[in-house]
Amino acid sequence: MKRHVFSTAAFSGAFIAAATFASPAVAQERYITIGTGGQTGVYYVVGQSVCRMVNRGSDEHNIRCNAPSTGGSVANVNGMKSGELDMGVVQSDVQYRAYHGEANFEEEGAWEDMRAVFTMHGEPLTVVARADSGIENISDFPGKRVNIGNPGSGQRNTMDVVMDAFGWDEDTFALASQLDAAEQAAALSDNNIDAMVYVVGHPNGSIQEATTTIDARLVSVTGEEIDGLIEEYPYYTRSVIPGGLYRGNDEDVETFGVAATFVSSTAVDEDIVYETVKAVFENFDRFKRLHPAFENLSEEDMISDGLTAPLHDGAARYYRERGWIE
Ligand code: GLU
Repeated sequence: MKRHVFSTAAFSGAFIAAATFASPAVAQERYITIGTGGQTGVYYVVGQSVCRMVNRGSDEHNIRCNAPSTGGSVANVNGMKSGELDMGVVQSDVQYRAYHGEANFEEEGAWEDMRAVFTMHGEPLTVVARADSGIENISDFPGKRVNIGNPGSGQRNTMDVVMDAFGWDEDTFALASQLDAAEQAAALSDNNIDAMVYVVGHPNGSIQEATTTIDARLVSVTGEEIDGLIEEYPYYTRSVIPGGLYRGNDEDVETFGVAATFVSSTAVDEDIVYETVKAVFENFDRFKRLHPAFENLSEEDMISDGLTAPLHDGAARYYRERGWIE
């Protein structure tokens, strides 16, 4: 009995010694989580695609990446602030306001630890209305049932600014619903709302769903209030959604838009962000094939446009190595 106890102790002691001895060789696995958006949007594909590139190299760098669906831009900013998320996709207007602590981020104050990584595709403010709703421009919204978006989404953040510009509040509408991005198309088809608002890249699953199940139109977002926003804010630009992307929508539609940006924070290791951007840019052709909205991405635009916060040290290190920045 005694001998048995002794040998067990000796065995576990040897085991611990072996494990301790082995640990420097077997590098520790590190996990990163990227905040995206609704599953029928494009952010979800951005996160999944970045993770796919990162996870291809897990054997070498030991980083494992996952990209769950979230409430969108603002939820991603909050998730990175709290440390729940390491990186996230965020609209360029939300990046600007969160970094500077302006507009709807004024109360929380500037988030100076935010770091830019790269910019992705363009995101026009997209209004889809039921064909029988009588809405032909965003200015026809008063008195209608409009989904202004869930509070964690980027479109809600942008809509707050648009509503301010028009002098609207929630009482302006017959209904101001706050459905998640992924719920909007069904609500439109079921005739629970007249219009949905989505700041999103094209083509995407949500608007495909809305336009194939019922007769729905992408309507223009123009007028002097919109001109005023484009003039006032550096991150808003005129934008055209090309015709022919969705059933029953053959004409180009004028609107304004932002860019989707990929951000992180100073709390995330330089090495992790370095390996992430390296994985994307070293597999860039493969990456661009993962969604039609990525097709026209270019390295040059991705590291210069739409970025407000300073570049993350890990991203800057890789871009310097490639000779893209000084
Ligand atoms: N722009 C939207 C947001 O910030 C998300 C768009 C998407 O999921 O592609 O919430």
